[in-house]
Amino acid sequence: MATLKVSPRGAKRLKDGHVWVYRSDVVSAEGIAPGAVVRVADERGKFLGTALYSSASQIAIRMISREVVEDFDQLLRARLREAAAYRDKVVSDSNAYRLVFSEGDFLPGLIVDRYNDLLSLQILTQAMDAEPVRSAILSEISALFQPAGIVERVDARVRELEKLPPRSSGLLQGEKSTTVFTMNGVQFHLDALAGQKTGAFLDQRENYAAAARYAHGDALDVFCYQGSFALHLAEKCSQVTGVDSSRPALEAADRNSALNHREVEWIEANAFDLLRDYADAGRQYDTIVLDPPAFAKNKSSLATALRGYKELNLRALKMLRPGGVLVTCSCSYHVGATEFLELVAEAARDAHRSLRILESRTQAKDHPILGNVPETAYLKYLMAHVSY
Ligand code: SAH
Repeated sequence: MATLKVSPRGAKRLKDGHVWVYRSDVVSAEGIAPGAVVRVADERGKFLGTALYSSASQIAIRMISREVVEDFDQLLRARLREAAAYRDKVVSDSNAYRLVFSEGDFLPGLIVDRYNDLLSLQILTQAMDAEPVRSAILSEISALFQPAGIVERVDARVRELEKLPPRSSGLLQGEKSTTVFTMNGVQFHLDALAGQKTGAFLDQRENYAAAARYAHGDALDVFCYQGSFALHLAEKCSQVTGVDSSRPALEAADRNSALNHREVEWIEANAFDLLRDYADAGRQYDTIVLDPPAFAKNKSSLATALRGYKELNLRALKMLRPGGVLVTCSCSYHVGATEFLELVAEAARDAHRSLRILESRTQAKDHPILGNVPETAYLKYLMAHVSY
């Protein structure tokens, strides 16, 4: 196995418990093949662990072990079994969850979601894309779950950036790419080859149930996608409206409401315009959910993103009746938890409302956050009781 040397700064990062070293901290990677499993050493040659190498990414290595890894195939299979065992402990009331969350499961570059009898995988790095690695992943996850279908979702841009040959999304195994899955007793249709992410926003699974605990009265689910929050709220609320700008998402949402015999009004609109119009028209709600897409995709778009979040929260707060509930989220890694709380608090001040924070939450436990890898924590979720 080749050895890759890292700078003192890279070595310190690893000693501090992080799992990435950037290209600028690689001292020598000469002759190392794209996607290779490498020994990592400091400049003096002291062994620091084993990693997966990428010749293309700014993240040059992603650690897989503090030890020497003799057999990557075996390690990979053991990690997949461990990831499944972990889900048995942390997931309940759901046959859909993220089975493998990349670094969070010590399998950097691999994402696997389970939707009932289907598995959907995403491969993000050269190492995970290598043919023997792909076939080991497939054989191990098939043995664990005997799925009716395994689908691969390909993000063309990710493959391009990682200098991987183009591929298209499709079935890797089995015949089936559609199913029905259950979260918290609510059922959802899934077409594993359509939709965003791998088809659903599993990271909010525990948060849907949390929202349903406090939701009441007239409810508005803004950025509703295929209706997950709205359908969870429908059991508790007298009236629920879901808003999204994507027609296909709303068509799926409508099929989901029929499947659950829950009535929801779906509106296709730009959320910013709709909130402004509704606020101007003096509409009032008891529960509002804001779950926008990541506005800050990188640091440079942060200021604009913060303004976007602020505006949404301000408008929603103005429409909430006293005793109402605001559920507000941000899935931008670049917006910190403290920063998010501050902006929501600021919006409340501007809207002349007081907030009592009921719950401050994050992504569901099947999207594990590593204590020493802040990048694994991205979802912010605040639920607040609104009064004067
Ligand atoms: N709440 C959903 C996930 C929302 S993802 C869930 O838990 O499943 C973000 C959604 O925002 C997407 O469905 C996207 O279509 C929608 N969207 C993006 N920009 C929008 C805009 N300006 N107005 C309304 N919807 C928008």
